Amino acid sequence: MTREYKIETPQEKQNRHKAMEAVAMLEKIKHDFKEPPKAMEYFYNLYEDVYCKHKPLHENKIKVGTLCIQVPSEIIHALDAVPLRLCNGFYSDDEIGGDLLPSKSCPLVKATVGQFYSGNFSDKPDMVISPTTCDQKAKSGAIIEDMGYSLYDMEFPRTKESEESREYWRRSVRKFSKELSLDLNKKLTRTKLKESIKKVGHAQHLYHQITSLRQNQNVPILGVDMFLVTNAFFFDKLENWTKGATALLSELKQRVENDFNAAKKNSPRVVYTGSPPIFPNLKIPLLIEQSDAVVVADETCSSNRMFNDMVSVDEWFLYDMVDGIADRYLKGCTCPIFTKNNDRKRRIIDLVKKYNADGVVYQAFAGCQVYEMEQRSVLEAMEKEGIPIIYLESDYSPSHLGQLTTRIEAFIESLKNRKRKKL
Ligand code: SF4
Ligand code: SF4
Repeated sequence: MTREYKIETPQEKQNRHKAMEAVAMLEKIKHDFKEPPKAMEYFYNLYEDVYCKHKPLHENKIKVGTLCIQVPSEIIHALDAVPLRLCNGFYSDDEIGGDLLPSKSCPLVKATVGQFYSGNFSDKPDMVISPTTCDQKAKSGAIIEDMGYSLYDMEFPRTKESEESREYWRRSVRKFSKELSLDLNKKLTRTKLKESIKKVGHAQHLYHQITSLRQNQNVPILGVDMFLVTNAFFFDKLENWTKGATALLSELKQRVENDFNAAKKNSPRVVYTGSPPIFPNLKIPLLIEQSDAVVVADETCSSNRMFNDMVSVDEWFLYDMVDGIADRYLKGCTCPIFTKNNDRKRRIIDLVKKYNADGVVYQAFAGCQVYEMEQRSVLEAMEKEGIPIIYLESDYSPSHLGQLTTRIEAFIESLKNRKRKKL
C-alpha cells in the first residue's frame, strides 16, 4: 500500500504554528485556575474557531483593517463594513516581522507586519487604516502598503490638551468619513451613524458594568479571562460580542450575589498598565495570576482604553455626530505617544482607588520607546501616592520566563506582606 504525503504550504505551516500558540494559551487559561464562568465558553470557542480552525467570521462583508484603537469603529459600522483591529500578539508572526524590521522594533509592530507579509488572516482585510499614532505604527503602515495592501494614513495629533489639536483631529475624522464613504461607495447617513453610535455605546456600557463588578472584595472573574473578552472585541461580530458579554454580565452578577471569589481570599489586587496584552501574548497577566495575585483593572489599549468615554452629541446631526466621535477617541486616548500624558497617571491612580488595588504592574514591550520613556514619570506619580509599582520589560518570546516569574513573584510577595501588616 502506498501512503500519500501532503507537503505543507508555508501558509499551512504558519497556521499550524499559530494554532499551537493559541491552544497553549487557551489551555492554561481554562485549566490553571478554578472554575471559569460558564459564559466564557463562548469566548474560548471563538478563539478556537478563529485561531485554531481559521474560520472566517465576516464572509461577504467589506473588512476594514485598523492598526490602532484610534480608528473610529462607529463610522465603519455605519458604512456597512466590519472593523478588524489587526494589532497582533503572535510570536510566530513576530519572528516573520523580525526579518523585515529592525530587530529592536516593538514586537506588536513586528507581529503585525509579519502577519501581513505571510497573509495568514482568517478574515483578510480589504483595506487598512493606519493612524499616525506611534512612529513604529506609522512606518509599518508604509511597509504594509508596499506589500500591495490598500492603505489609508489617518493623521493623529501628538498633543491633546489644545484646541488646535482637537480641531486637527476633528478634521482628520471628517476627512476619513468622507473618503471611506467614497471608497466603499456607501452613503454615511444620519440614521445609520446614530444606530452605530448606539450599538458601540451599548457594548461600552456592558464592558463597564462587567468590569465594575471587579471592584467587589470577591472578584467574580480573573484578569486573563477579561483580557480574552476585550481582545475578542477586535474581531468578533458586534452583535455576537454583545450577546456573549450580556450572558457573562448576568452570570457574574450571580457570582457576586453568591460571594464567589475567582481568586484566593487574600490575593493581592493588581492594576495592569503599559504595552497592550494581545492574545495569545497574555503571558504577564497569566504570570501575575499564576503567582496568586489577581488583575482587577487595567489601563491598556487592548482592554479598558477601548471602552473609555462615550460619544457625546448635543444635536443628532451628521456632522455633530462625526465631531462627537472624534472627541471621544481623542479624550479617551492615554497612549504615551502624546507629549504630555497626565491623564494616564490620573487614570491609573483612579483605578487603584476605585478597585481597591494593592499595587500596579507596568509592562513595556522591549523596543517601545514611548512606554519605556514614560515609566519614570508614572513610577514617580505612584510613589507620591504610596502605591507600590513594578516595571517589567518583555517581548513575545517564550524564553526569559524564569526571570520574569521571579520578579513578579517577589513583587506579589511584597504586596502580601504589606497587606498582612495593614490587617
Ligand atoms: S499602544 Fe498606542 S499606538 Fe499602539 S495600538 Fe495602542 S493606542 Fe495605538
Ligand atoms: S507598544 Fe509602543 S511601539 Fe508598540 S504600538 Fe504601542 S506605542 Fe507603538
